Amino acid sequence: MPKKYEPLRTIKHTLGDIAEHSGKIVITTHHKPDGDAMGSSLALYNYFKAAGIETLVITPTDYADFLWWLPANDSVMVYEGNEEEANAIIAKASLIYCLDFNALSRINTMGEHVSKSNAHIVLIDHHRDPEDFADEQWTEVTASSTCELVYQYIVEHLDESHITADAAQCIYTGIITDTGSFRYDSTSSNTIRTAAALIDHGAKPSVIYDKIFDQNRLERLKLLGYFLNNKIELLADGKVALATLNREELSRYEVKTGDTEGFVNYGLSIAGVKMSALIIDRTVLVKMSFRSKGEFPCNEFAAEFFKGGGHRNAAGGSSTSSLEETVETFRESLESYKDYLA
Ligand code: 5GP
Ligand code: MN
Repeated sequence: MPKKYEPLRTIKHTLGDIAEHSGKIVITTHHKPDGDAMGSSLALYNYFKAAGIETLVITPTDYADFLWWLPANDSVMVYEGNEEEANAIIAKASLIYCLDFNALSRINTMGEHVSKSNAHIVLIDHHRDPEDFADEQWTEVTASSTCELVYQYIVEHLDESHITADAAQCIYTGIITDTGSFRYDSTSSNTIRTAAALIDHGAKPSVIYDKIFDQNRLERLKLLGYFLNNKIELLADGKVALATLNREELSRYEVKTGDTEGFVNYGLSIAGVKMSALIIDRTVLVKMSFRSKGEFPCNEFAAEFFKGGGHRNAAGGSSTSSLEETVETFRESLESYKDYLA
């Protein structure tokens, strides 16, 4: 039986309590933030701005350019490269929101400063097994996205009337990126109701889809063409799709942060494939993405062999070995998960 994770909800504060921290509120999220991470962070930023409360979003690292259109993106501070200034702000903060992650290692060295600060920490997240560093939290593993929880958080604990079209655009973005446009298992009736409410608040689905999915650089499409043509192989009697990208290929196609986003899903779109893996030789680490359909627990697999984690159907990990060794470990590791591939 898969382990059941009960929601953990210990939030007690009101909008009035948050207002007292205005100017001393930091909102942060995991490194290499994705649509849900940036969507939830900038949703809260825009929401609080409309409510007259000043906050600052600090991301541990940069992020893909297809997210730069998000309202108030220009106000974001990237920790990497601005450490001194960011550390001073974190040290003075009295309230820190941690969104879309639940282990301080996910915010790199910034984690040490967050952990040292005396700020009150509020965690909103949908990953399992939260570390114990928050003063108040809302963690719900079955939620489609942190953005879905942020919307509920605003409705139930703050005041829905301050949700602007800008905040709604941000929340909607995180929901569609984390649900694969409403197609993953995690999409619930509540997800769809939330999306409907966001449209009423001014979110424009066609604009968001265009900004996220239809602003490709030609090089990225060429990389995708090369990838589909040459790189996907099937293992385990066609139940597993594996693809790799080495450093030479990354440099040949001038790959930037975010260019390979979604590539792992092509393997999973092959009939009969239950698990898809993408292994990329980044400069410091070999980074892996895993996706599955049904019961194959990508998060457990990632945690057991690749120091990673995530969700059952979408997880990731990393390795300090070479690309070739990592691929070998991957192939061997499948053996102990073959029951899920029957
Ligand atoms: P992606 O494949 O898009 O990078 O990551 C998919 C999901 O896996 C993320 O939402 C995150 O929850 C999780 N994940 C990815 N990489 C790691 C990792 O190195 N460690 C942990 N704990 N989770 C990861
Ligand atoms: Mn998420």
